[in-house]
Amino acid sequence: MTNEPSLLDDLYREIILDHYRTPRNHQEMEAPTCSAEGANPLCGDTVTVSILLADGRVQDIAFGGQGCSISQASASMMTEYVKGRTVQEAGDGARAFQQMMTTGEPQDLEGFDDIDALRGVAKFAARVKCASLAWKTLEQALDGRAEPVTTDERTESND
Ligand code: ZN
Repeated sequence: MTNEPSLLDDLYREIILDHYRTPRNHQEMEAPTCSAEGANPLCGDTVTVSILLADGRVQDIAFGGQGCSISQASASMMTEYVKGRTVQEAGDGARAFQQMMTTGEPQDLEGFDDIDALRGVAKFAARVKCASLAWKTLEQALDGRAEPVTTDERTESND
């Protein structure tokens, strides 16, 4: 792993590197309502997403994991977008992101400004997997929300 391929123009690369170096919501959550883990073995990226739901809204969200700058920046942007939004809006965002990766077209969605920096990735199939990882993991976490997760009675593990 040396330099990132120069597949993005400078402005966009700055936004991505900013999220990579200073990831938002990159922390652990003690008692998430739902969570999921995702991996992109092709690149060695991992992302875990933990969500605290209240009243159908993402009250809080945290992510962990490691990998290339695109995977981690995308996860950071995803959490920033999703935080405070309804489950419906979070799902809309995930679908819009997938649409952007498929078509390379900008998405007219409020809050997608930084996320648009990843649009250039759409031209590179291998990197699309990196960028999509966090959003797919988000969907997976939200899909599991119907399962009642009881975290309150669980013994604390050694983390
Ligand atoms: Zn990657």
